[in-house]
Amino acid sequence: MSEAKFFVPGPTWVRPEILEEMTRPMIGHRSAEFKKLFRSIANDLKALFGTTQDTFVATCSGTALMEASLVNCVPRRVLVTECGAFSERFGSIAESLGLEVDRVSAPWGAAVDPEALEDHLASRRTHYDAVTITHNETSTGVTNDVAALARVVRESSSDTMVIVDAVSSLGGIPVSFDAWGFDVCFASVQKGIALPPGITVFAVSQRALDRAAKLPYRGTYFDFLRYKKDAEGDSVPTTPSIPHFYALAAQLDTILRRETLEARFDRHVTMRGLTIRRTATFAKLASDPSHASATVTALAPVKEPESIRAEMKRRGYTLGGGYGQWKDTTFRIGHMGDIPLDALEEMLDALNEVARA
Ligand code: PLP
Repeated sequence: MSEAKFFVPGPTWVRPEILEEMTRPMIGHRSAEFKKLFRSIANDLKALFGTTQDTFVATCSGTALMEASLVNCVPRRVLVTECGAFSERFGSIAESLGLEVDRVSAPWGAAVDPEALEDHLASRRTHYDAVTITHNETSTGVTNDVAALARVVRESSSDTMVIVDAVSSLGGIPVSFDAWGFDVCFASVQKGIALPPGITVFAVSQRALDRAAKLPYRGTYFDFLRYKKDAEGDSVPTTPSIPHFYALAAQLDTILRRETLEARFDRHVTMRGLTIRRTATFAKLASDPSHASATVTALAPVKEPESIRAEMKRRGYTLGGGYGQWKDTTFRIGHMGDIPLDALEEMLDALNEVARA
């Protein structure tokens, strides 16, 4: 029996070796040991994001980077692409910052249509400082075609920043920051990267740093230019969660050199296929199958979702609940990070007994 029984779409199951890494003795964050750790993480993050530009780590959850990317890149007006709860969150954060917000919205369960985005950008005379894109919408289990969406933005204007939320994709679904023309991309680590929650990794383009330099007020904790300046000395602006740095260095080594990115992405695709196939007799896929996510599946079962989750819990398995407007009608299976295939198979065996009974 596998020990991985936690199938929530973030936080996800964490390998015991990684938890062990977090118990190592403290080091000072201005010490030579920390600088070495910092360098190895910054280099490995470049490979993970697919960039030669700057990568950073902030001690916070992903929502903080949603806010930070707006604070650093958007003086006035932002276009939010949305298709579920987390992409919608960008709009409410922007409004809380007093920004002007427009939206291109797809219905829950659908992906954002690049043509709809193109039409919106072509039909408005408005200039947007940035467009936000959510790579993988965790509330519905939909993966947007982020390369196509980013291309539409880049072709529409040379100084509209492309801000990408890769919270539930990075480490499970390919991300190519430079090739796809992103300006800011971030991910909290409790999903595809399979660490305990507490830090967020992010990449920032030179264009975004130049934009930030033109804004007079960028706050303090999340000022990208402070991150950049400190990174030049292999450090961070404020005291970081050092246990997470240990764990991140070990996990990046595993992802890039032991498992390899290609094998990791393949395993996620296999997990998606298994999940969809082995739930088809008792649940409908809640979202558009042509954009089904490789990290999370939202299901609308014949039986009441909460009764299924409760019985699975009695058997030792934790599944994700429905989210937002889908709370009562769906449940979600997180198949992300380090979950082994045999663990997923075992969980799906149990789920079949429970959901078909
Ligand atoms: N964006 C997406 C796509 C998410 O799935 C989540 C959390 O589930 C967030 C943002 C918010 O991240 P955090 O909970 O780390 O603040």
